[in-house]
Amino acid sequence: MGTHAFQAEVGRVLSLVINSLYSNKEIFLRELVSNASDALDKLRFRALTEPGLLEGEPQLVIRLRADKDNKVLVIEDTGVGMTEAELVENLGTVARSGTAEFLKKLEEGAKKDVNVIGQFGVGFYSAYLVADRVEVVSRAAGTEKAWKWTSTGKDTFEVEPAEKTTRGTELHLHLKDEHGEMLEDWRLRELVQRYSDYVAYPIELEDKDGKRETINQGRALWQRPKSEITDEQYEELYKHLTHAWDKPVARTHFRVEGTQEFVGLFWLPQDPPFDLDDPRKQHGVRLFVKRILVMEDCEAILPQWLRFMRGLVDSDDLPLNVSRELLQESSSLRTIKKQVTKRVLDLLDEVAKDKPEDYAKFWESFGRILKEGLAVDPEWKERVAKLTRWPSTHGADLVSLDDYVGRMKEGQDAIYWVAGESKAALEGSPHLEALRARGYEVLLLTDAVDTWAAEGLREHGGKKLVNAMRADVKLPDDEETKKKTEEATKEIEPLVAAAKKLLEGKVKEVLVSSRLRESPACLSLTGAAMPAHLEKLLARSGKEVPKGQRSFELNPTHPAVTALAALAAKDPNDPKLADWVTLLYEQSLVAEGSPVEDPNGFARRVTALLTQAIG
Ligand code: ADP
Ligand code: MG
Repeated sequence: MGTHAFQAEVGRVLSLVINSLYSNKEIFLRELVSNASDALDKLRFRALTEPGLLEGEPQLVIRLRADKDNKVLVIEDTGVGMTEAELVENLGTVARSGTAEFLKKLEEGAKKDVNVIGQFGVGFYSAYLVADRVEVVSRAAGTEKAWKWTSTGKDTFEVEPAEKTTRGTELHLHLKDEHGEMLEDWRLRELVQRYSDYVAYPIELEDKDGKRETINQGRALWQRPKSEITDEQYEELYKHLTHAWDKPVARTHFRVEGTQEFVGLFWLPQDPPFDLDDPRKQHGVRLFVKRILVMEDCEAILPQWLRFMRGLVDSDDLPLNVSRELLQESSSLRTIKKQVTKRVLDLLDEVAKDKPEDYAKFWESFGRILKEGLAVDPEWKERVAKLTRWPSTHGADLVSLDDYVGRMKEGQDAIYWVAGESKAALEGSPHLEALRARGYEVLLLTDAVDTWAAEGLREHGGKKLVNAMRADVKLPDDEETKKKTEEATKEIEPLVAAAKKLLEGKVKEVLVSSRLRESPACLSLTGAAMPAHLEKLLARSGKEVPKGQRSFELNPTHPAVTALAALAAKDPNDPKLADWVTLLYEQSLVAEGSPVEDPNGFARRVTALLTQAIG
């Protein structure tokens, strides 16, 4: 009871809403009707186990009433209602985690568009687009007391006891003078038809004599035949279900018959929600059973790696009292999940084929999530692999694996990849030299999930995926090259032996390399070793990085290496030899993006070399 201050974020959201939606004022009605519809969904669900909640008011309905004398628009529903505490909590705070940081970015940045702002579920506050005072009178289902929340939308709100004989919520919008038209019959009908026709409950318009007329279809949109649904209607349903305001890129609406009968409707969103990576994020997939919403955010319907999709399933066969725990075990749900996954992948295939530009945007926003499927889902990884796009040495554009395989050179028997911090850093990698010399394309993987994903995929189109940074990579060679390498290998044997002694404990092996052309030396991965950028990630998160997991490879045809080999043959204990081998090792560390173990020693060695070269 009494006067409360809005949470600070609410004020900021409110002013953002008012400032960025001034030309979209009419959306207030769809937001408030959407809330009423949610409240009715919640009531209907609770009434499954507590039928007493429906007593006194069995009807589930939304009503609009215009009081022209007082310039008040009333929006009423017979839904769950709110207790005193819920009024304070739900209408006085912005609950989503990460909101404060996101608001800051939004206020600083230029991207003040409606879509981004809509992500907060600013729904209720949109009432202040047309009203200068809002009263919310509510009585929670199953309680006797009603409460009134009042605010002009500036700093504070009041909550006091009120009179209300029936369950549900009544919003009284005291309209600003210039919005008197929102009281007109024709205007309300038009707005309901445009924005709220998907609503599964009757929306009634009540005139001043108390006469009521239903002005929407009142039937769940997804149960209507596709041919009777317009793009606009789909879009309004999307906005209602997801609380998002973007225009989805594509949708799939289907009915599955057979052992599990259900309707599915899924959208590929345009904009990633700001809390996509937050495990507590909401508004994903809703589960209905026989038109009744039984679960919001039903994570069991889609695999994790499709968690960016939004939509609903309406099942005819699942029990109404289904719980999250039960769902995990349910074989019916496994059938549904499989069907939905297939349809969603079909949809992505279609976008990739027919709308390449949209697909490129999709990939940028959600590709890193889809790629997880390669690592965790053997059942689907082949289909997912076809949808993936990668940076490569082929050019500036991302490439598909099928394109890569189609371009493979004669004699090339694998798909090669390297992983690192950025495409630019990888393009100079010594690991590419021999591959380049053969004209082989190499995928340049830069996402944190990529190594994991590529290792999980293993092969595509009958071709193995090969990490070109590994020590055990063998490239096909012709006889002549093989012979040359053998000879060169013999020649640098003394150097290999000396390097083995010098780098003991630092590297696993010293090898004669066949992968290098321009570089004298490099490091390659052995055993379970990770690429340098992942080791850095690991170290940053406080985990121990195992040492000595590299092989040191020497280029037997490089003049610096052959000269060092001659030195080693003359005197393996020459102190200059130790310095220079160490330097080669250190520059290999730098090249792969790893920290040098002894930076001062490194600097000293480089300076000595410089001085000699200049002198
Ligand atoms: P969202 O709908 O995205 O959650 P809103 O700002 O539209 O955000 O609403 C905030 C919260 O207020 C809702 O989540 C709900 O708990 C509560 N609420 C709003 N309108 C109603 C209503 N008519 N009946 C019951 N609860 C409501
Ligand atoms: Mg809402």
